[in-house]
Amino acid sequence: ANLEELLLSRIRDVADYPEPGVMFKDITPLLADPAAFTALTDAFAAIAERTGATKVVGLEARGFILGAPVAVRAGLGFIPVRKAGKLPGATLGQAYDLEYGSAEIEVHAEDLSADDRVLIVDDVLATGGTAEASIRLIHRAGAEVAGVAVLMELSFLDGRARLEAALRGAPLESL
Ligand code: 5GP
Repeated sequence: ANLEELLLSRIRDVADYPEPGVMFKDITPLLADPAAFTALTDAFAAIAERTGATKVVGLEARGFILGAPVAVRAGLGFIPVRKAGKLPGATLGQAYDLEYGSAEIEVHAEDLSADDRVLIVDDVLATGGTAEASIRLIHRAGAEVAGVAVLMELSFLDGRARLEAALRGAPLESL
């Protein structure tokens, strides 16, 4: 089977999670399957190489699980972008709007330099709010964004359009 079929076959739809009316895409079956997890890691690592990335940024929490092996496979450093209040050092923060209220993410800015080109990795692009905030955060930390790579894009939510301006021409790759 091709990569897309393999990956899709290992994603479970969970109805009414985390709230009624939402169909949640659960990636834990994919993580539990070594062939699928390895194929995903290799595909992300190829994107890192193709885009000239020098660092991998993973978005809490599933972006940590997916991004860390990509960094190792591609020979790059890994940087976590965390929800506010979780990183112990000096942080740079970026707030963004949710459907109800707002959220904030943070990074240890000293781990990024002006020479860095960052590949942002996460599992699912939904509204694009999280990814857009992380792009802004990386730019504000003085680094470049090589691209955003996600396992899956919920295209009906149009996150791709939301990211367009922030990406400044960098690619959004969804597998
Ligand atoms: P967004 O900010 O694009 O609306 O939401 C994306 C973030 O929420 C990602 O970090 C992603 O992990 C999480 N997310 C939203 N919907 C889903 C889903 O259906 N499945 C999974 N696994 N994560 C989701």
